[in-house]
Amino acid sequence: MYRNRTCGELRIADVNKEVTLSGWVHKIRKMGGMTFVDLRDRYGVTQLSFNQEKNQELCEQANRLGREWVIQVTGKVEERSSKNPNIPTGEIEIAVTAIVVLNAAQTPPFTIETETDGGDDLRMKYRYLDLRRNVVRKNLELRHKMAFEVRKYLDERDFLEVETPVLIGSTPEGARDFIVPSRMNPGEFYALPQSPQLFKQLLMVSGFDRYFQIVKCFRDEDLRADRQPEFTQIDCEMSFVQQEDVLNMFEGLTKHLFKTLKGIDLPDFPRMSYADAMRQYGSDKPDIRFEMKFVEIKDLTTDRGFGVFDSSEYVGAICAQGSASYTRKQLDELTDFVKRPQIGAKGLIYVRYNEDGSLKSSVDKFYSESDLKAWAERCNAKPGDLILVLSGETEKTQKQLSELRLEMGSRLGLRDKNNYKCLWVVDFPLLEKDEELNRFFAKHHPFTSPKPEDIALLDSDPGAVRANAYDLVINGVEVGGGSIRIHDSALQQKMFSVLGFTEERAQEQFGFLMNAFKYGAPPHGGIAFGLDRLVSIFAGLDSIRDCIAFPKNNSGRDVMIDAPSRIEQEQLDELGLVIVNREK
Ligand code: ASP
Repeated sequence: MYRNRTCGELRIADVNKEVTLSGWVHKIRKMGGMTFVDLRDRYGVTQLSFNQEKNQELCEQANRLGREWVIQVTGKVEERSSKNPNIPTGEIEIAVTAIVVLNAAQTPPFTIETETDGGDDLRMKYRYLDLRRNVVRKNLELRHKMAFEVRKYLDERDFLEVETPVLIGSTPEGARDFIVPSRMNPGEFYALPQSPQLFKQLLMVSGFDRYFQIVKCFRDEDLRADRQPEFTQIDCEMSFVQQEDVLNMFEGLTKHLFKTLKGIDLPDFPRMSYADAMRQYGSDKPDIRFEMKFVEIKDLTTDRGFGVFDSSEYVGAICAQGSASYTRKQLDELTDFVKRPQIGAKGLIYVRYNEDGSLKSSVDKFYSESDLKAWAERCNAKPGDLILVLSGETEKTQKQLSELRLEMGSRLGLRDKNNYKCLWVVDFPLLEKDEELNRFFAKHHPFTSPKPEDIALLDSDPGAVRANAYDLVINGVEVGGGSIRIHDSALQQKMFSVLGFTEERAQEQFGFLMNAFKYGAPPHGGIAFGLDRLVSIFAGLDSIRDCIAFPKNNSGRDVMIDAPSRIEQEQLDELGLVIVNREK
């Protein structure tokens, strides 16, 4: 028997018990004739004590231990003379009577502490050591609990978890596919699923009625903090539902998770149309922890001789409360912020609404104080506030203003990680036009149903058609999205033609779906949540990487196992693959 207790469970009530523990040597301290060892396992840390006077040999053995050695100890639980209120086992220690070294260890390349001295790269290379750190392990524990609660909630509501294949054909969902060559079918390829979209719809045709799956999905995209090439979705689909049914079911799931994992009771989630989200926040995933809505002031700014505004399609303002005292330097910082290439504004105009009621702007040459007063009134600004203005082409400027709004929100401390604001964004446009290619793409995916009242517009004004599609946004992060699907093969065919598929190509790629729809497809709809994003929001993380056991880095590499890697010529030959232009 290696142990009869864990390192996290002994308390004052256990004093005088004989126990055996196993774990890793976390820390060793020598103090006078005493040696103290912190023994760690997944459950916690327990202090071991060795008294030189009582047992010199054992004490010397303890002094020879190294960090991260794996040991087993037996001893008696005793009350500590100096207690540590910061850990649950802090009132006791083990007076050790025997040590067995189960395995010696090399000194780890970084300290196994919350505040470790290891940089990102080093920790990723030795991820198995990084995972020994409390903070990282806690994220994975939370992830486990979330997956468990998701299954519980959905199981109680008759959802069935069904596995769908990982080796499938390429489906157009917007991102690039990961491709897997087929040895048995030379020259042909599987793709890894970007999502189980088509399979879950087919399960509805099969009459499964309520499906879910916690499932790995793959997208070959450039990486950002909230993206990984492989990520996990909570993928769901329901039959005989309208949008309202899906929103209610999954608002319920989200509330259940907040309640059980964080003890938070959330109020009903507000809803906002895509059009309002863009107009008021310049984003389809607005962070509504704070207001600072956009105010259009174009009509108040024209014909005063300021060419920049006169020639702009859109002039938009936000009001930063209490920021009139911003210094020149702070304003320059904001100007540099909006001018960064990622944001791309040409400049920033500001109006200080001073405490004494006077108004001072960076465009005083063109606008009188009463002009500025009119702007301030429209912005609902009060003395002490700062008004920030961007102008230009509508969509671009709204996006820039959205970045500026978030930046000001952060600077003003309005984006508290522990304040959770959920929002449904609804009525997304069905299609999105790629101006360069001069063709429409599906905004969500090609299986999304147009709103019935907008179907007539499909021919005359496709860009104006709204979809029965929705996103769940928490604190400005899109954590889930879905739609009511098309279940009529003729409408699906029509949709493919609007998207520029020839009849043959649509048949080739999606014939099976349109065929399936001919055999009795129920009305259906669903949603998928990003599990990694949800966990990272619950844990207050900056990157989803921190809640994934073995994540990839920003170049899509696993630096621990060194993947991706080259394969042997034999393997290439077997697959009939020839590598051209292999770089050294
Ligand atoms: N398959 C969609 C996605 O991955 C989600 C859905 O429509 O249910 O975004």
